[in-house]
Amino acid sequence: MIADNLHSIEQEIQESCALVSRTPEEVTLVAVTKSVDAIAAEELVKLGVTNLAENRVDKLLEKKESLSEYSQIAWHLIGNLQRRKVKSIINHINYFHALDSLRLAQEIQKRASHKINCFIEVNISGEESKHGIHPEELLSFVHKLSDLSNVYVVGLMTMAPFDADDETIRSIFASLKNLQEKICSLKLKYAPCTELSMGMSQDFSLAIMEGATYIRVGTALFKKG
Ligand SMILES: *Cc1c(COP(=O)(O)O)cnc(C)c1O
Repeated sequence: MIADNLHSIEQEIQESCALVSRTPEEVTLVAVTKSVDAIAAEELVKLGVTNLAENRVDKLLEKKESLSEYSQIAWHLIGNLQRRKVKSIINHINYFHALDSLRLAQEIQKRASHKINCFIEVNISGEESKHGIHPEELLSFVHKLSDLSNVYVVGLMTMAPFDADDETIRSIFASLKNLQEKICSLKLKYAPCTELSMGMSQDFSLAIMEGATYIRVGTALFKKG
């Protein structure tokens, strides 16, 4: 079942890439395992998936412990992170996808023992329910990170609204790419900002067409039948 799902997703990644003359190697599939146990996650790893994501600190640490024999796994924390939990997790992950405030960045700076790969979460759609830096504040936010040597901005992340039509979703992803290119062009040492974390089960194909380099897929990998 998981193998079949993975196969279809890989095929859709290929097809989406082909539509816009990209190659599948440019897109990293990040498997979101928050809804399944370590056994299902292990099945994916055995199928060759090496990027796993959780949205909760305790769940990530648990899974990482259960799968400790697989040193090839890169662990992604994709959910919002409370400052009081930074200390317990930050040195155990390879990527953090939800940097959304200066105070959080400062806490990461304080607790990290090395540079942490971070995606700045951007609230493109402007929904109040969503976390993330507002687009008009992004550049000044990035500049404020310049003194924080442990915060390394690899790229930007966003979540599209669940109920939007394809055209709206694509324009949100396109806006994120636009912002990413702007920051990238500044050539900041601490913020190369070459990556785009966007696209989930429902919309990863659109995200790839708009330039996603990391897609975060859960439901589509683990659905039954
Ligand atoms: C759960 C989650 C995903 C995966 O969503 P699916 O619809 O299950 O693919 C991606 N990103 C974030 C931040 C999530 O919390």
